Amino acid sequence: MSSELRWHPFLKEWVIVAGKVQERPVLPPREKCPLCYGGIEVPKPYDLLVFENRFPSLTKETSDITPFEDEIYKLRGGQGICEVVLYTMDHDSSVSRMPLEQIEKLVLVWEDRFKDLSSLEFIKYVFIFENRGEIIGVSLHHPHGQIYAFPFIPPIIEKELNSSKEYYDKNNKCLFCSILDKEKGEKDRLVYENKYFTAFMPFFGKYPFELHIYSNRHLGSLSEMTYGEKMYLAEMIGKIAKAYDNVYGFNFSYMMVLHQKPSKGDYPFYHFHIEFYSLHRDKDKIKYLASVESGAGTFINPLAPEDSAKLLRDSIGRLEK
Ligand SMILES: [Zn+2]
Ligand SMILES: [Zn+2]
Ligand SMILES: [Zn+2]
Repeated sequence: MSSELRWHPFLKEWVIVAGKVQERPVLPPREKCPLCYGGIEVPKPYDLLVFENRFPSLTKETSDITPFEDEIYKLRGGQGICEVVLYTMDHDSSVSRMPLEQIEKLVLVWEDRFKDLSSLEFIKYVFIFENRGEIIGVSLHHPHGQIYAFPFIPPIIEKELNSSKEYYDKNNKCLFCSILDKEKGEKDRLVYENKYFTAFMPFFGKYPFELHIYSNRHLGSLSEMTYGEKMYLAEMIGKIAKAYDNVYGFNFSYMMVLHQKPSKGDYPFYHFHIEFYSLHRDKDKIKYLASVESGAGTFINPLAPEDSAKLLRDSIGRLEK
């Protein structure tokens, strides 16, 4: 069954209806892990591997869908590509435990997939992400991430593009570069800096432990980075993943999303960044998204970014000892 896009007439955004997703295995026992070598997806040994999701939210073929449109309702095929990225053969590993060179390879694979999928005529946006931990809704524990190549620009990206364009037109400066300057100036939300990247808990974070990584140089995507920048990005991601796990001493659940420019067109006002969100708000407390977030669209962040930044900085300090 192909995936469908249904237009939400008053929120003005696409909803994906994808029956295939219902068939995904949910938390199979370890010996039945489909992502381990010998499992159903990977008959051969591998290092880092990308394959198409067997239960995709967006399908390559949508010829069985008949598009229709009246003044209110609109439906079309959800043509896109969903890929799975296996980070390592080691079932018990994670970004926080992988050797740096494995994360470096991951960054190079992301760049490759970003370029490749972006070049497809029907793709408008390539979204690279990782869900980690059962509280986030992860159905397989084996270390992996995903890529959704969308036939439209998703609404959060659209909003970021609109705001950064508006700011750029008015101030002749990049909104993200300006945020970076502010955070570097105010310092109390900074978490970690390396040669080419800066990690901080933004002033306006919606989630507890929301962290952003910005490239220090103004650029729009992985494919505009030098080799050196990609290597430092890997170092940064590894450090942040370790720091998260070290905050409370358990595998920290998170969502990690790459925000890059869309696949087609020119976006000189947009700036590459990575956002991490978590639902942990204390050692044994979880922040659930409920009515106010889902029904009113307003987020309540129970943990001030200044406080979570301090927790993460202390965590990095303990790692370095
Ligand atoms: Zn596995
Ligand atoms: Zn910028
Ligand atoms: Zn963003």
